[in-house]
Amino acid sequence: MDFKNKTVIVTGSGRGIGRVIAEQFVKNNANVVVSDLDQGQVETVAGEIGGNCIGIKANVTVQKDIDILFDKTRKEFGQIDIVVNNAGITRDTLIIRMDEKDWDMVLDINLKGAFLVTKLAAKIMMKQRYGRIINISSIVGLQGNAGQANYAASKAGLIGLTKAAAKELAKRGITVNAVAPGFIATEMTEALTDETKDAFLNQVLIKRSGTPKDVASVVLFFASDEASYITGQVLAVDGGLTIA
Ligand code: NAP
Repeated sequence: MDFKNKTVIVTGSGRGIGRVIAEQFVKNNANVVVSDLDQGQVETVAGEIGGNCIGIKANVTVQKDIDILFDKTRKEFGQIDIVVNNAGITRDTLIIRMDEKDWDMVLDINLKGAFLVTKLAAKIMMKQRYGRIINISSIVGLQGNAGQANYAASKAGLIGLTKAAAKELAKRGITVNAVAPGFIATEMTEALTDETKDAFLNQVLIKRSGTPKDVASVVLFFASDEASYITGQVLAVDGGLTIA
């Protein structure tokens, strides 16, 4: 896959899956914007990745940050072709113990953030008559998970957003797809209890946890010309967990 002259924004890419997605795009010749909450962090990460990679801070829940992210990206690279809505958090607990603020925070970042970014990306991509939007959902959004009602709702919502956006934007040359990772080894899953980790891993048909690169490979495929006839789809990258 060659993304020469294509510009990519990856939200929440200061670490974890997002960072590896950014690295893989750079390896395949794209211009890449690493974006996360802290300017120092994104500049460091962009420097470490090298190539045509810059860092621009943006909190995906703050409209002004998103405006600046897109403005600076266009100033630096001239256009925006691919957007990966990757920023996401968990605030896990059972529903009966879940604070309203933890519900709101997870929905705000994981779902509303993706909506705000998609809205601005769509405006730009519609004029270009070209674009690729890839949302990082989760198998938890497909299946639910005890202790993750807020997260499951946000990731299921992201699948709804993906399909609605795909229907609105297809005629302008924009595809919108989602990846639903299973159990991927990152700081997010490191925070889970051993019991929860074991419960997930026991169900994985391919007996290992996934890597950020497993997810990045599918993101790059959805972003590529090879996937130009695919839109509104959700692909689980889960080692077979959802069919187990
Ligand atoms: P991670 O290591 O926690 O990385 C998430 C990144 O998002 C962090 O750098 C975080 O910044 C950033 N972020 C948080 N709030 C943000 C905001 N308001 N605006 C912009 N950035 C923000 O998680 P990960 O495992 O790489 O997950 C990446 C995505 O994959 C998430 O959407 C997650 O839900 C999804 N996913 C992960 C797994 C898994 O097994 N790991 C499975 C399914 C889906 P800080 O470091 O400053 O908090």
